[in-house]
Amino acid sequence: MRRFLLGLLLILIGLAAVLLANTLRLPNHQLGAVPAAPAVAVVPDSALAHLAGALRIPTVSRTRYAETDTLPFDQFQAYLQRTFPLVHQRLRLQKVNRYGLLYEWPGTNAALKPLLLLAHQDVVPVLPGTDSQWVRPPFAGQQAGGYLYGRGALDDKLNVLGQLEAVEALLRAGFRPRRTVLLAFGHDEETQGRRGAAALAALLQTQHPQLEMVLDEGGLVKADGVAGLTQPVALVGVSEKGYLTLELSATGPGGHSSMPPALTSVGRVAAAVAKLEAQPFPARLDGGVSGLLAYLAPAVPFGKRLVFANQWVFGPLIKKTLAATPSGNAALRTTTAPTIMRGGDKDNVLPDRATATVNFRLLPGDSVAAVLRRVREIIDDPQIQLRTVGEGRDATPVSGTDNAAFATLHRTIRSVFPRALVAPYVVVGATDARAYASLCPQATYRFIPVLMNQVAIESLHGTNERLRAGAYPDVIRFYAALIKNM
Ligand SMILES: [Zn+2]
Repeated sequence: MRRFLLGLLLILIGLAAVLLANTLRLPNHQLGAVPAAPAVAVVPDSALAHLAGALRIPTVSRTRYAETDTLPFDQFQAYLQRTFPLVHQRLRLQKVNRYGLLYEWPGTNAALKPLLLLAHQDVVPVLPGTDSQWVRPPFAGQQAGGYLYGRGALDDKLNVLGQLEAVEALLRAGFRPRRTVLLAFGHDEETQGRRGAAALAALLQTQHPQLEMVLDEGGLVKADGVAGLTQPVALVGVSEKGYLTLELSATGPGGHSSMPPALTSVGRVAAAVAKLEAQPFPARLDGGVSGLLAYLAPAVPFGKRLVFANQWVFGPLIKKTLAATPSGNAALRTTTAPTIMRGGDKDNVLPDRATATVNFRLLPGDSVAAVLRRVREIIDDPQIQLRTVGEGRDATPVSGTDNAAFATLHRTIRSVFPRALVAPYVVVGATDARAYASLCPQATYRFIPVLMNQVAIESLHGTNERLRAGAYPDVIRFYAALIKNM
């Protein structure tokens, strides 16, 4: 017994030593002090007024493109032309499908691969009946309490205007980039981006098939709430999850509900959905969480650092903690979301067909084919028909964090947000960037240069979408610095 206890003690000491060594040896991916990016010579109030003017033009995307009112998009183009005269004199502008815009600012060194900045002109509609809940109307471009309110203030006109404002200021100052700078602004990002991003990417494929870096909207500088840290964290999307929607259907004899069969088509579909929810896809740290933790590790308290540094031991604990919240859970696995159920329209009649629609968001590493296979296995019912709705797609390639482009992005972020940690993560939503993946699989990043707290972030796509007025000069400063640093 004593020998056993002694052995156990030695094993524990050995384990503790390994855990400790891993923690102390942990590489620090964060940069030291970075010189502040210079302020950009714009009049801040006029820059904000330019953005406010853009918010007054209701470039609303409708799910059916035919229902989209295109007049505001014409007005928006004219507005950009008026507001940024130097950009429109000096940069080459090409259009796709009339509203997709590609600006090209040729670099002095043609041997360098271009930098591509992305943003989109369209916005989501305001939910009918919620207009009155806005502190300021959604398309008035008005300020209140230090915030600029309006649909598009965060998603995504601040980036369209911020990029153009930076380029206009650099042109005014006589700057010429060594590397060609491209700006591509789609007009239907909120509805799949087929006319905008996809067509712009196809055009670029013929003109600049290889890019140094692509930067689109995505993570922000979160002021609070990342891994319990008190300092802000700049989340840089290195991939975005894939997408698959399946319709499950069951057919059976319809008829009067007074004599139902043991299992109705409604019951069969409901059972299939219940099985899918009860058996979520496996949680994985290698789908993006590992990279995020590695970048945050140096900043967290020692106990947490020990956990982050020893994922081989504490993986289950990390997964359990993350899985407790919907956002943490979404970072951890391919998610399963039943969104629509249909069957029957009369309370005393059995429908002959019932359906359920389930939306999956695929973690990098889980392919559409693998998800389909697993869904069939879980449902395990040959009477359930499966149909793919629209086109499924895998997650985009995961861009690296050990290349020169990321290092430049990292440094630029720190030069504008000196207190922020920088960390890679996987974007759970969709952005235009995926259309450009083949042009730059190694360095496509998703980041919005704005420091915000969680409450304001949640206004995106919701009621009272708003940008802190004081944050806008940083947006312009960031883009100007990035163009210079690249
Ligand atoms: Zn967007």
